[in-house]
Parts: sequence; C-alpha cells; structure tokens
Amino acid sequence: MDSTFAKAVREACADALALLLPVSCAGCDEPDVALCERCALALTPDPQRQVIRTAVGDVPVWSGLEFDGVAARVLRALKEDGRTMLATALAPALAAALARTGAADAELVPMPTSPAAFRRRGFRVPELLIRRAGRRPRRLLRHARRTADQRGLDRDARRRNVASSLVARTPVRTRSRGSAAASEAHASRAEGPRVIVVDDVVTTGASLSEAVRALRAAGVDVVAAVTVAATPRRFAGRR
Ligand SMILES: [Zn+2]
Repeated sequence: MDSTFAKAVREACADALALLLPVSCAGCDEPDVALCERCALALTPDPQRQVIRTAVGDVPVWSGLEFDGVAARVLRALKEDGRTMLATALAPALAAALARTGAADAELVPMPTSPAAFRRRGFRVPELLIRRAGRRPRRLLRHARRTADQRGLDRDARRRNVASSLVARTPVRTRSRGSAAASEAHASRAEGPRVIVVDDVVTTGASLSEAVRALRAAGVDVVAAVTVAATPRRFAGRR
C-alpha cells in the first residue's frame, strides 16, 4: 500500500479510537472527564517570578503555576500522551505570566522543538500553548545541534548539555511601536524586536539561558521569559 495513504488511514483510525476510548481526568484519573472541576481549579494561575542569570545579563522569568501535583500531571498528559485539548486549560497560566512581565505587547518566541520531539509528538508544545493563549508564535530560534534529554541531569550538566545548542535567525529590524517611555527605557538596548521567550516548564533555567544568549547574539531585545509552570525550588537540579 502507498505509505502516505497507509499513514493517513492509521491517523484516521487513531483519531476515531481517541473518541471511543474511555477518558479520565488528566489530573486525578476521575473517569469520563478530560479534566475534572477540582483539577481545573488547581490550574488557577498564581504567577511567580524568578531571575535567571546568563552570561549576557539577567532575565526575569514569570511562571503561571508550580510544576507539581495537578499542573505537572496535566502538562505531562499534554506532552507525553498527546492530549492537546489540555493546552486550553493551561493557556490561562501562560497568559497570566505574560501579563506580569509588563511587556505583554512584545513578540513571543517559542523555545524550538527538536526534530526528534516533533516526530514523536506531532506538535510543538510551546507553540500550541502560545496559540491557545490567543497569540502568534514568532519562530526565531532553531537547534544548531542535538542535545541529550535534560531530565536526569544536574544543573551543571544541563548547562553543558545545551551550551551553544541554539541559533537565532537575525530578524528584520522593526521599530518598536511602544509608548515613548517604553522606547526610552529600551533605547540603550539592542535595536531588534522586543521579545519574550516562551517554554512550557522552567527547571534550572539552562535552556532559557541558552535561548537568551542566542537571541541577544543576533541583536534581539529579550525582555523576559515566561513558562506555564516552574519546578519548585526544592526540586531544581534534581529532575
Ligand atoms: Zn481531576
């Protein structure tokens, strides 16, 4: 059979199966509901700020939720089980984090998805979350080389793993259309577009630091980073 046709049939069958298979809450396994009311409530945004230090300056990172309990389970169900409808339930956390940056008009640059992860999942997690938050992603970053899975690596190993792993496309220069005060505040910074880097989860900040380095090297003005969730401090470096 023609492989493209076979693939289309397989995908159609998988879609049909997804409608027939019993569903359970991504947060607590309660049957017959994709996300129960109690777990939906647990996803109420509570933005927290941290600062990641990079070789090219500090960057504030706002995260809408703690990566723990229900939020962690729902994010894993989205990423690892392909339950993309859950992105709608997580988008408010991203939007709340974005609002707290004070630069919500900045362009949103998603952390790039590796070709291997895209083949495995069939979608890009940060881009999906950006779209569900009602915004448009601007792809300025791509992988320059392969990296190992960050899980299981400690803080230093994570930093080494991602060092120089990203490159930024040099963007077309656009004049900021922000207020006079905002323009003045950024007058001493790069002339490229103002952007916010977006990822699903921040753990040690190694990946975000690498993104900031690559973007600033290309003349992009990175004002902040936002994530749906942040790993609680007590776990940082151990996941
Ligand atoms: Zn639940």
